[in-house]
Amino acid sequence: MKRTIQSRRKVYGQVLQHARRHPHRECCGVLAGRKGLITQAFPAKNVAADPVRNYEIAPKEIVRLMGELRKRRLEFLGFYHSHPFWLDTNEPSCKDIALAYYSKAIHFIITPRPYATTPIRAFSIQHGCATELEIEVLP
Ligand SMILES: [Zn+2]
Repeated sequence: MKRTIQSRRKVYGQVLQHARRHPHRECCGVLAGRKGLITQAFPAKNVAADPVRNYEIAPKEIVRLMGELRKRRLEFLGFYHSHPFWLDTNEPSCKDIALAYYSKAIHFIITPRPYATTPIRAFSIQHGCATELEIEVLP
């Protein structure tokens, strides 16, 4: 059975919109909330050398975002990023798995493709292994 995580519907809309605004490259950001419930998404700049195939948040921006969360009394819960529309899967790539160093983070992977059956999928990535999580969307 898949582990279930919870997200506010608003977050779902926010990250999907972010991905659809930039369908040709990867977009990324941070997921935050309270008591494990994802209540907010914070967009970040993708500073990867090749933003079409990768995403990378600058360490400085991570520090800034963590400060922002602390100020709002939110917990850091994970990251989101999109895969460009020509990739037909929103599953973690080998690179996504290799670079996932926060083992407790939830990873939302989004596809900007219209009519995708699962435009947002969630994964836990630990010890080089990705496990899909069920997302329960709350109002
Ligand atoms: Zn990826």
